[in-house]
Amino acid sequence: MRKKIVAGNWKMNTTPSAGKQLAEEIASQLKDGFNADEVILCPPFTHLYQVGEEIKQNDKIFLGAQNIHTEDFGAYTGEVSAPMLKDLGVDYVIIGHSERRQYFGEDDLLLRAKVEKALEHGLKVIFCVGETEDEYNRNHSEHVVKRQVISALFTLEPEQFADVVIAYEPVWAIGTGRTATPEYAQKMHAFIRQLVVQRYGEETAQNTSILYGGSIKPNNAKDLFSQPDVDGGLVGGASLNANSFVEIVRQI
Ligand code: PEP
Repeated sequence: MRKKIVAGNWKMNTTPSAGKQLAEEIASQLKDGFNADEVILCPPFTHLYQVGEEIKQNDKIFLGAQNIHTEDFGAYTGEVSAPMLKDLGVDYVIIGHSERRQYFGEDDLLLRAKVEKALEHGLKVIFCVGETEDEYNRNHSEHVVKRQVISALFTLEPEQFADVVIAYEPVWAIGTGRTATPEYAQKMHAFIRQLVVQRYGEETAQNTSILYGGSIKPNNAKDLFSQPDVDGGLVGGASLNANSFVEIVRQI
């Protein structure tokens, strides 16, 4: 069966020392257990080692990065690669976040290359998809999400796809406080799962975790997580506070 997952995307927030403290608080609050199968902390690159040290005693808390380059090594000043992250003990990498698409011009083909590179090095992928507000208003949500999923993921072999978690994040809900309704999230998640059925079959689709992201807070997480096709969440703003993040984790 598919895993229930709550991931925290810290984005470009906290300093390494503040991040270490945040990870320590989260790990301490979760040390007596939680129902989710996995919690994943995704701090900036500069914090990965220390956050990894804070969570290593808990075998249900994992370490995630927020980006990778498409090459292993080379003259790409300022970039970080999959083998570097793997060697550091990173388990997951977020690929295709709307901020990477929007501010850094990452398109479907580049994202496919990043997904393949991550999987080649044994990193699991949290692959983000989601429509913009304009696309939502024009009723293009399914069309856009279908294109994003097919172009970056559906060239993978089934055994590679098994290491992919999909995060449905409507861009209009990210950082806006405008959370998707549980009904709308369910409809989009069911649509994505159906795409997976068509490409990889029913069994794989039932084993694929599809997370919702977009202004998840302690007071709306339960309704979202109780939808049959919502397998957890990718949390931005609310993951920067240990109490609110742990409260969200406890809604599963
Ligand atoms: C995100 O950036 O992945 C996200 C979901 O952010 P927020 O929870 O702040 O909307």
